[in-house]
Amino acid sequence: MKLNLYNTLSGAKEEFKPIKAGVVGMYNCGPTVYNFAHIGNLRAYVFADILRRTLEWSGYEVRQVVNITDIGHLTSDADEGDDKMVKALKREGKPMTLQGLREIAEKYTESFTDDLKALNIELPHEMPKASDHISEDIALIEKLVEKGIAYTTSDGVYFDVSKFPSYGTRGGFALGEQREGARIAVNALKRAPRDFSLWKFSKGDIGWESPWGRGFPGWHIECSAMSRKYLGQPFDIHTGGIDHIPTHHQNEIAQSEAAYGVPLANFWLHNEHLIVKSGKMAKSGENFITLQTLREKSIHPLSFRYYLLQTHYRSPLNFSWEALQSAQIGYRGLLTEFAKKENINESKDSTRQAEEMLLQIRNSINDDLNTAYPIGLLWSSIFSFQTITSRFVKELDLILGLDIENQSKKLAEEMNSVPEKIKELAKKREEARSAKDFKTSDGLRAEIQAAGYAVMDTDSGPIVHKSLQ
Ligand code: AMP
Ligand code: ZN
Repeated sequence: MKLNLYNTLSGAKEEFKPIKAGVVGMYNCGPTVYNFAHIGNLRAYVFADILRRTLEWSGYEVRQVVNITDIGHLTSDADEGDDKMVKALKREGKPMTLQGLREIAEKYTESFTDDLKALNIELPHEMPKASDHISEDIALIEKLVEKGIAYTTSDGVYFDVSKFPSYGTRGGFALGEQREGARIAVNALKRAPRDFSLWKFSKGDIGWESPWGRGFPGWHIECSAMSRKYLGQPFDIHTGGIDHIPTHHQNEIAQSEAAYGVPLANFWLHNEHLIVKSGKMAKSGENFITLQTLREKSIHPLSFRYYLLQTHYRSPLNFSWEALQSAQIGYRGLLTEFAKKENINESKDSTRQAEEMLLQIRNSINDDLNTAYPIGLLWSSIFSFQTITSRFVKELDLILGLDIENQSKKLAEEMNSVPEKIKELAKKREEARSAKDFKTSDGLRAEIQAAGYAVMDTDSGPIVHKSLQ
């Protein structure tokens, strides 16, 4: 069956074909580990996980690389501002040394990996650190210098964009009237505003020796060097959030292709943003919501995954607590339905029903990873299923990663282990609600919560379970 993916490079949906039969190399731009990942960042990795699962479901063996940026990402995505990691060292009172940097990086990489696990994201095969690949960065810059594509100024080594004529012209990477750099900050040392830094000379204590002077690599060069090292060049798929299109990925393409004369990657996929009221979610300020913030509000990480999957990855998603609560109710409701149908049956009829649905799911996922359709389909059909085949649950979990098999069992156990006293309170609350006596029903809900349980109203009735905390 055809797998169509929207390729930013051409600005169109294309049929996916791997470079080498049966194997896919995929690079997902990883986190800058100067703080916890926010739930916007996590959207990028849930999307990449769905892509990996889709490829695996199609029979490919996927080799996935997610880098860890622990040096070189400045506060602007271009060449200006402080290094984000150095700012974190100051914020956390750590020494301005490589050792201090490693400690910060380790702390936030560990937390990032925990977030991936909590979201049931398959762990990448490699998570290379930028600070471990300085010699690969230098080799790539040397190649560009040798070819006369890079030049040195008093503050670093720069890529000369005029030497790469297709810069800012291809498909979704086209910069239009911005091409000449009209809107970017001017650095008087550069030949042209769009030229970007490959190596910056150190002002402080952190730096590595290079043929041009002590300093550190630019953020873009790291991804070019690490993706090439682990996946070869060209490789199959490169992903990131849409914020990476105009600068970070644009520059990766230019420097890698200019250096080696072949494309960096064949497919470039980008997820739209998760947006909070006051704009794009950022790692500072009141917009900063983490998985831990969700847990504190009794939202399970997998409810958040379910919430994300309800929207196509190429649509912006306006974050709201109400919608997230509804998603949690939806997800729990679905788990309840699966838990109720525990009498798994492999009869011909149930197998046929399941196979038909799996085919529809495969059709929608293979059409540029439409995850919203399968979730809608589950809701409209699951109630009519008399029994569920175990293959159906397993396949669903493989593709959507909602961990239905385990979570529905857990929910069933939790529901069975609710003490009689709490069940009685829930029953009384339901009676009060039916009689529209909301004062009493609210009081009973508070009593249930105080005892460490939660009651959730779903389409298939209220569910009582242990609170998440
Ligand atoms: P960073 O740690 O800032 O380098 O970002 C890690 C990943 O998260 C990148 O792929 C970004 O493009 C992506 N990203 C950043 N902010 C958002 C957001 N609000 N919504 C979705 N993805 C985002
Ligand atoms: Zn990157």
